[in-house]
Formats: sequence, C-alpha cells, structure tokens
Amino acid sequence: MRMPQNVTILGATGTIGLNTMDVIARHPDRYRVFALTAHSRVDELAELCLRYQPRYAVMLDEVAADKLQKKLHGTDTIVLSGIQALEQVAAHTETDIVMAAIVGAAGLRPAIAAAYAGKRILLANKETLVMAGSLFMQAVEKGGATLLPIDSEHNAIFQVMPQERLAALEHGGVRRILLTASGGPFRQSSIAELAAVTPAQALNHPNWVMGPKITIDSATLMNKGLEVIEAHWLFNAPAEKIEVVVHPQSVIHSMVEYIDGSVLAQMGNPDMRTPIAYGLGYPDRLHAGVTVLDLFQVGRLDFEKPDTGRFPCLRLAFDALKQGGTAPAILNAANEVAVEAFLNGRIGFQDIPRLIESVLTMMNIDAVQSLEQLIEVDNQARAQAMEWKQLQAC
Ligand code: NDP
Ligand code: MG
Repeated sequence: MRMPQNVTILGATGTIGLNTMDVIARHPDRYRVFALTAHSRVDELAELCLRYQPRYAVMLDEVAADKLQKKLHGTDTIVLSGIQALEQVAAHTETDIVMAAIVGAAGLRPAIAAAYAGKRILLANKETLVMAGSLFMQAVEKGGATLLPIDSEHNAIFQVMPQERLAALEHGGVRRILLTASGGPFRQSSIAELAAVTPAQALNHPNWVMGPKITIDSATLMNKGLEVIEAHWLFNAPAEKIEVVVHPQSVIHSMVEYIDGSVLAQMGNPDMRTPIAYGLGYPDRLHAGVTVLDLFQVGRLDFEKPDTGRFPCLRLAFDALKQGGTAPAILNAANEVAVEAFLNGRIGFQDIPRLIESVLTMMNIDAVQSLEQLIEVDNQARAQAMEWKQLQAC
C-alpha cells in the first residue's frame, strides 16, 4: 500500500483552498493535509486546522499568528508566521504537493520556493506567471518540479495538448490556443452602463464562485488578459497564437486547434474541483464531487469575439505581453491596486484600465533580470498607481 502524499495548501482559506480540501477529503487514502496557510483570517484557518490537523499552519500576519496559536493550543499543529515561513512549508522536504492558491503577487515567493524544491506544483496563482513567468519557468526546470495548471482554461488546454507541451506549437502540430472567456457580468452592457457599475454588481459573476479580486478581474476581462500571459508561459505560445473566444455558458473550458483542422476541447460544468482533482491525481482521474455535465440542459453553446473597446484591460494585457520584460509585472501591480481601489469605492469601474494604462506609460520597461528586480518594479508600480488615485481625488 502506498503512503498518502503530503499536500501544502497556500491560500487555504480562499475559494481554491477550500475546494482543494473538499477533493482531498474524498481521498484520505491518497492525500494528507500537511500545511495550511492564510493571510489574516484567523477563525477560518483555525477551523480548518481543527478539521484537517495539519503539521503546520502559517499566517502571513504575525499578530494573526499569535491569535491562531492560542486557538490551536493543545493540538499538534505548529503555528508559524511571515513570508519566510510560507516559503519553508512550500519547500519542506516532507511536502509532496503544493497548491499555490494565494491571490496576487504575494503568491510569487512561495511558488518559486516550491519550484526550486522540485515539488509537484498545482498552480492557481496566475499572477506568479504574469509577474515573473521567465524566472518561474526557469525555477521549475532547475528544481525538477512538475507544474500542473489549475486555472480552468489552462487545465483544459493541458488536457488536450500533446504531452510535449512546451514544444507543441513547433513540433506537435498545434496551430493556435483558443482561450474561452465567459465575458463576465457585463458582457452585454453599453459603455454608459459600464460607467455606473458598482462593486456589488461586479462581484456577481454569472458562472463561477471565486474570491473578490479574480471576480473583478473577470468583470473587466483583465482576468482573460492575465490568462493570455499565463498561457504564453505555460505553453510557450506567442501572443499571435492565442485567441480569446467569449463563450457565455462556460462549458468549454478552452480549446487547442491543430494544423489538420482538428479542434480539441475540454468540457464540463464550471466547478474548480475538476481541474484541482486533475492536478492532484495526474495522470490518474479522481472523483471530485462534480455534477455530470448535462448537455441537454445546456442546450446550446455560443461564441463571440471579445470587445476590447468596452473592455480595454484585455488589450492592455496583450500589449504588455508583446512588450515583454517588466511590462506584465507593472500591469499586474497596477491592476491589483486598481481593483482594491474600485472595491473600496475610490475609483470607478472604467478607471481600472485608465489607471493601469497610465502607470504603464509612466514607467520604464526593462529586461527581466532577477526576482529582486521584479519585486522592486512591483513596489514602484504600486506607488505610481497610488499616486494616480490621489491625483484623481484632487
Ligand atoms: P481568495 O481571495 O478566495 O483567497 C485568497 C487566499 O490567499 C486566502 O487564503 C488569503 O488569506 C490568502 N492571501 C491573501 N493575501 C495574501 C498575502 N498577502 N499573503 C499570503 N496569503 C494571502 O482567492 P481565490 O481562491 O479565488 O484565488 C486564489 C488564486 O487562484 C488567485 O490567484 C486566482 O486568480 C486564482 N484562480 C482562482 C479561481 C477561482 O475559481 N477562485 C480560478 C482560477 C484561478 P485570508 O483568507 O487570510 O485573507
Ligand atoms: Mg480561468
């Protein structure tokens, strides 16, 4: 009998983290929760620790870690805090699998640590690839890590891509990647309607239940833009070979088009437990608790071209990918600030692309050299973005 594999879940209290534990709980013979991490939500992490009894629990925030320690007094879970502790549990010799599900640029350092430590990485945190795609892919190679995409589109592409995915566009007969997008809640809204969008409306995604940041990204189509950059790194695909296809039903999770005219798609109900189970079990298939797709109930599948006039974030992301260097890291940082400002009611929905474009125009784009450089660029872009907000408020 084989031993259960140890899983470290970075971002355990988020929607991806919780879905991961839901799948793991269905397979106690195969997986064991080894470490759980969160930013500051103590009560949520404490509850998960009592249920799954991990060896380690890490809070980024030190004060939150003290509170967690008190709540877990008398249990065997060791409580740690800070970014280094996140890196430690990601790279721990006893960790077999790392679910990288922290939201935003904050997920970068632990994901890189897992890559250098040669782990099986289930990558949900797309911002890692947007910010530092070249460095992260190098770390995966140097560390001998196994990288499995969890973002539903990239997981779909991975499932229908030839095994040699990094050479598939050159030698595997792949012509293009067709990245599907739901179009978000404002797919049919006019420019005038977009001007009046509130955070509550933007947080109401038609098909997926997700954390607030990615939900806003889905409403602006920045999520699709980030995913184009993510696909570029995962599948070694230039921007021209990635086409975004709006598909409102979110049943086809993405497609790969081949030179002989074949188009292979992966389909299923929109439920993140499918890609998570695929990543955990690969190459095996696991029960994931997902309802079977009922095609008769779906009835029809629609496809549309995205409108970058109404949703400029998608264009900005394509442009940043084509520019290369530090441009995607700047785009990502400015977007994170813009989304938070929108959620706090400080800027309007359409200010999100305006702010990002302005930061991209103001900053120099350099070649990527090191992680430290990218972290510095991220900080600078955030500072520029904050200034833009203040200027608007004057
Ligand atoms: P959530 O907002 O639901 O969860 C985010 C998690 O990250 C929480 O555990 C949170 O802890 C933790 N966290 C937040 N900030 C920090 C920080 N600075 N340092 C350490 N930990 C932090 O996000 P999702 O689960 O929706 O998304 C996670 C990632 O997966 C994102 O990159 C997203 O783009 C990607 N993804 C998500 C999908 C989905 O369906 N949700 C689909 C595809 C990709 P705390 O609770 O304490 O704040
Ligand atoms: Mg996605």
